[in-house]
Amino acid sequence: MFYWIPSNQNVKNFNKHSAVDLIRFATTGISRTDLAEEMGLTRAAVTLIVNDLLENGVILEAESRAIPNGRPPVVLEINPKRGLVAAVDMGSTHVNVALADFSAKIIEEISLPFDITQGPHVCLAEVSRILQVLLARSGIGISQIMAVGIGVPGPVIKDAGMVMSPPIMPGWDRYPIRQQLEKEWGCPVSLNNDAELGALGEWAYGAGRGENNLAFIKVGSGIGAGLIINRQIYGGTTGSAGEIGHITIDENGPLCTCGNHGCMEAFAGGNAIASQARQLVKSGKRTLLSNIPSETISAQTVADSARRGDLPSQEIIMRAGTFIGIAIAGLVNLFNPSAVIIGGGVAQAGDLLTTPIRQAVRERSLHASEQSVHITTAMLGQRSSLIGATVQAINIAIHDATERKSPVLKEIPTTEIKQAAPTE
Ligand SMILES: [Zn+2]
Repeated sequence: MFYWIPSNQNVKNFNKHSAVDLIRFATTGISRTDLAEEMGLTRAAVTLIVNDLLENGVILEAESRAIPNGRPPVVLEINPKRGLVAAVDMGSTHVNVALADFSAKIIEEISLPFDITQGPHVCLAEVSRILQVLLARSGIGISQIMAVGIGVPGPVIKDAGMVMSPPIMPGWDRYPIRQQLEKEWGCPVSLNNDAELGALGEWAYGAGRGENNLAFIKVGSGIGAGLIINRQIYGGTTGSAGEIGHITIDENGPLCTCGNHGCMEAFAGGNAIASQARQLVKSGKRTLLSNIPSETISAQTVADSARRGDLPSQEIIMRAGTFIGIAIAGLVNLFNPSAVIIGGGVAQAGDLLTTPIRQAVRERSLHASEQSVHITTAMLGQRSSLIGATVQAINIAIHDATERKSPVLKEIPTTEIKQAAPTE
């Protein structure tokens, strides 16, 4: 099944965990009959598994809302109140920390400006401080948090729980992030690359539901891709798969943060977009951006003014879209995904960015691959990676809960539970 890897070869346990994942990620409700069919088991065998899961409180039975007339079939759902997790999405200039229930619904969330270049000591202390604020605000003790999922903007060595030579995270190379936080928080921590988590978040609860193979392109200050292949995160040998931003577009092009020249990111990343906009203003061309102090121009402000109809801003965004599209065409040729999801701050520009991307992919990918790929923007808005981190934390917590003989039901505070929905 999707995530859980059995620590022993106990078939009954393996089936139990597979059933939990099928129930978690079913796009519409799943019945006992569906489960028997999906798992190739008899109704009786499924009943045993389901009763076990109902007994320890991991799942519950609900009436399907899918059929408007007649007696609705009973479907199985994850019991959202079975446990709590925390999720952290560290970007280069922002951090998002959230508490969520077992259905990945965000209970409380704080998003703040952040500077990843301050290194692990300062940054992790800040994350801990924010988590404490969230817990205090929701009346939850740290001991009630069953697991924490974390995303960072660098290549992650998964088994070691650290990053390796991250280009935009100076001072973080091989710092034991996971070990440090597990010691501090007293619960299991999972560490992933933020683009990987974006892919996972969109696959589980966003624009990529039901897809087997997808790519999530995070267009922020830099550009990275998260890959899901056969419903598994694909990180590569050293966690640096999906570095689509460093594909060379023009060997004589501008200098990139990685030290090479002409990388796609150096043409189309958020930093490149902002610097092109500053040049435009300097050239004296008529643009809405002239009304903004030059040092505050960011990719976001260019996207905003493009949306407000400013032609020169639109040109910058569309040209970035073409470069991103050229790289995505290569990715589509290479790995033939059924969906490519564009996320990150610059994706808020919507069609202005996706139209030239689609066009470049149409022109530059092989027909068979291009015909079968669906290119769209992230459904979870700026929260794709945060929701992905939540999914990773729940992976640990829910399978731990599944293993327990007796349920440890914890009351979730009555704070209004927000839907894991787009931020806009
Ligand atoms: Zn580069």
